[in-house]
Amino acid sequence: MSKKQPAAESSAKSPASPAPGEAAHKANLNDTVNLHVEHAARLIGMREEIYNILMHPKNEIIVNFPVRMDDGSYRMFKGYRVQHNNILGPYKGGIRYHQDVTLDECKGLAAAMTWKSALHDIPFGGGKGGIKFDPLKHSRDELERITRRFTHALAGSIGPEYDIPAPDMGTNAQTMNWLMDTYMNIAGALDKNAMRRVVTGKSVACGGSLGREAATGQGVVHCLVEWAKDHRFELQGKTVAIQGFGNVGSWTAKILSQLGVSLVATGDYKGYIANPEGLNPHKLADHVKKTGSVFDYKHGTPISRDDFFAIECDIFVPAALEHEISAKEARSLKAKVVAEGANGPTLPDGDDVLRERGIDVLPDILANAGGVTVSYYEWLQNKRSERWEAQEVAERLERSMKKTYALMRDFAEERKVDFRLAAYAIGLERIQKAYLERGIWP
Ligand code: NAD
Repeated sequence: MSKKQPAAESSAKSPASPAPGEAAHKANLNDTVNLHVEHAARLIGMREEIYNILMHPKNEIIVNFPVRMDDGSYRMFKGYRVQHNNILGPYKGGIRYHQDVTLDECKGLAAAMTWKSALHDIPFGGGKGGIKFDPLKHSRDELERITRRFTHALAGSIGPEYDIPAPDMGTNAQTMNWLMDTYMNIAGALDKNAMRRVVTGKSVACGGSLGREAATGQGVVHCLVEWAKDHRFELQGKTVAIQGFGNVGSWTAKILSQLGVSLVATGDYKGYIANPEGLNPHKLADHVKKTGSVFDYKHGTPISRDDFFAIECDIFVPAALEHEISAKEARSLKAKVVAEGANGPTLPDGDDVLRERGIDVLPDILANAGGVTVSYYEWLQNKRSERWEAQEVAERLERSMKKTYALMRDFAEERKVDFRLAAYAIGLERIQKAYLERGIWP
């Protein structure tokens, strides 16, 4: 930065092992993201006034709302929407349903969306939101009422040209359809159809894009393919371990299996399983659809969380919660590359260990951007009343992910920094340029 900034916080600590399925490390995600920003800001010599703007979200919204439960009782819920930055376009980012959602988590995730969109040159800003509750403990009818009531509470703060939510952990296309329908019904009749793009990640029947459901996993795989080419690493015959088997984890596993990469271990909120001969990701995904978890899949052997992180594999993909890889897990990993499907899965001390051990990290803001990229395509299709064919979506996504990967790799090589620092620096540079050319009003 051009003027002196506060010293970087020391790396977050590595606490004791959590129980299976428990969130690993309770460090603050916003601090982790801001630490990456601080390092990148120093690297590019960011102006202090711009840095100070970017260290704070523009808006932090908290709503409390009642919802009727199936038994007739009413329960209060707390929801969040953080709008980090919109200099490059409307706020954009997922809605998370999870019992551990906090304002700070949403702040970190919203900021990460700003850097992700900027890195990939998508004309969106960064936002994120969520409701603090466990969706697994609610019926479909309750989930619908919770989503509609939350949308109503947020309706004045989101909009198709202002803030555009999408699915994240604990939410899916069905949640987005309810959000869209509620918002469209609040809008006046004349504007109704223009409101469809208030949210992305909808089902195809409701205006979603072909290819959106698989997009994040597909993007992770595009990055791995590019990394493998650079490292003369033949993917055929290699093995992968994936933490989390929801949208991102399951699609990453299915697409990697088409390239001959076999899934040897996975796990979720209930626990972990392994099979050195390979788990069939399609059958496993069907099992998860029926039972909600991978844990009692009959072709896998239950293993502990510690054994999962120490499993023999070539590729490791975190696709669950943030802060799962501290120094301890990083020391156990056997993989040669970590491709971050999840947002913020690696703690700073985990990064340090992976760097020392020569394990490459394809950082979240690079690797998991397939989702926001195809969300952008969905938004464009809605805006233009178009339907793109699956092949067109797939080709555009592939071009975009590969272009950004090459940009990040070249920057990292030129400046002799790791991929994460390079990715953040490219995003920050784009945003700084916009501020410098527009000026800071008034
Ligand atoms: P999801 O809800 O579909 O799946 C989450 C998975 O994580 C499930 O298998 C769940 O059981 C597992 N999990 C939950 N708690 C866990 C715990 N304590 N230990 C181990 N596993 C646990 O969510 P998703 O959409 O696949 O999102 C996963 C990650 O990817 C999140 O970090 C999300 O922010 C990120 N992400 C998602 C998208 C997207 O398009 N869905 C895009 C970019 C990034």
